[in-house]
Amino acid sequence: TLPNLPLLAALSSHPPSKTAIIHNTSRNSFDFGSLLRDIFRWRAVLSKLGPGMRIAIMGENSYQFLVCLLAATSLPETIAVPLCPSHTAPEITYQLDDSDCCAIVSTERFKDKLAPLVNGREFVIYEDIDLPHSEEVAIAKDPSDAVNTSGIILYTSGTSGNPKGVVIPNATLHAQASSLIKAWQIGPTDTILHTLPLHHIHGILNALLVPLFVGATVVFQFPFAAGPVLGLLAHEDASAPKISVYTAVPTVYARLSTQYRSFPPDKQAAITAAIPKSLHLAMCGSAALPDPLRDGWAQLSGGHPQLLERYGMTEVGMALSQPLQESERASGSVGKPLPGVHARLVDKDTLEVLYESVGWQSEDWIAKKPDGDEQVLGEIELSGPTIFKEYWRKPEATGNSFVTDAGGRKWFRTGDIAGVDSAGRWWIKGRESMDIIKSGGEKLSALEIEREILSLAGIAECAVVGLPSPDWGQAVATVVVMQAGVKPITYDVLKADLKQRLTGYKIPKELKVVEQIPRNQMGKVNKKTLVKQVWPEKF
Ligand code: ATP
Ligand code: MG
Repeated sequence: TLPNLPLLAALSSHPPSKTAIIHNTSRNSFDFGSLLRDIFRWRAVLSKLGPGMRIAIMGENSYQFLVCLLAATSLPETIAVPLCPSHTAPEITYQLDDSDCCAIVSTERFKDKLAPLVNGREFVIYEDIDLPHSEEVAIAKDPSDAVNTSGIILYTSGTSGNPKGVVIPNATLHAQASSLIKAWQIGPTDTILHTLPLHHIHGILNALLVPLFVGATVVFQFPFAAGPVLGLLAHEDASAPKISVYTAVPTVYARLSTQYRSFPPDKQAAITAAIPKSLHLAMCGSAALPDPLRDGWAQLSGGHPQLLERYGMTEVGMALSQPLQESERASGSVGKPLPGVHARLVDKDTLEVLYESVGWQSEDWIAKKPDGDEQVLGEIELSGPTIFKEYWRKPEATGNSFVTDAGGRKWFRTGDIAGVDSAGRWWIKGRESMDIIKSGGEKLSALEIEREILSLAGIAECAVVGLPSPDWGQAVATVVVMQAGVKPITYDVLKADLKQRLTGYKIPKELKVVEQIPRNQMGKVNKKTLVKQVWPEKF
């Protein structure tokens, strides 16, 4: 028998012959019955590694990876640590050492890459294992202790410093998934296209665990390539699975748009006509979504489905989301707290609570409610069953991340700044540490300025930063990448264009055109290192 964990119990309640996973490239498919049996078999293998362990798993996005992940998290006091295949040796070593892994499970394909990093750990290659035979698998009757003692460690994207290991027990994953299922109404008839990395919350929770909980089908298209993904979304090949839900990061939507624009008009028209027929939900998050990307998607999808924007973090799963109803979304906002999520807005300077809201149900203005389009600004703090409790073996970082209110409730300080409008909708302004520029007594949102710069013709990417300035405290500056074949924009043109849409003090005082803006695995920019690279003389 397998222990009674929320996910395993859910898997066993789905029809055993229903398809759980499809590898699109090979069209191999795996049903829920074999998924449970294989988890059971791998559990027997992994249990020999000993109790109280961390097990690193590195693999392609695949059924085998999923089986090992769920087998590991079903063992008491066992934590699975998914690793990213495209990380460098030092990055992998950091995560193996930091999480204190006793074993690495991987596939033939990454054997050579991992062999030098094993360092005395057990090294298990999927293909080398002779799995024990298994008959029918049953789920234990009583809830298992492993609900809280086991789970996963996911590393944060490392955008603002060294990645931190976030401990997410099975029970927390369950709470996070339940909230999303309710909000996004994902059900057993859905087919989700999965093209995200599996070492990150977006790829694990939104695109994998959520569908598995409800008995939907997950289609892995790995590695990501824009052409095949557009083909799948438009259901070009009748023998391929028909996708109803897709979720990705802004850089992926950028690549889909670029690919779409490279197609001849008749192919573009066919894609635009086909997408709304199968896809009913397309979501975006993990970083801010600039308007040109939203418009690019609207063009290729013919306006439906619109991109649903949501805000989340490794530490909290997803926290804020636009509603499912397209007519109720405000473009550029990330909506409201998800079911079960307590969110409040706190003044960074006075630490006064300005606004508090629970799920989609309640809201409480403590500060004066803004008028019309105005917003009240502050740091996002979160609480509730979906929020993590600790960074792995970092008690100090954990302690600094939480505040306790008068009623004893613990709030996680996200470090992100948002505005809330009169309708209770949240608008992300960026990270306090990197995106909020303090210039001449004003606090400016780099994300808002980036949106305007990206709307200018010929600009492919940009990052707005604050440079140290004796006159202003910080001076607004921007790094841009031009679209292929476009001449570099001059400062005067940039300034003249932006003058029409931004007040004077928001217009960058410096511009650097570069070939490329370095981004991490999730497409995010570490602005602290970027400014030092681009303007070394200022530091
Ligand atoms: P690190 O914590 O190591 O610096 P990271 O914060 O980038 O890395 P993640 O947990 O992957 O690691 O990312 C969470 C962050 O991503 C949020 O704190 C927020 O700054 C940003 N983010 C997520 N969704 C959105 C969104 N819809 N709009 C703007 N920013 C977002
Ligand atoms: Mg973070």
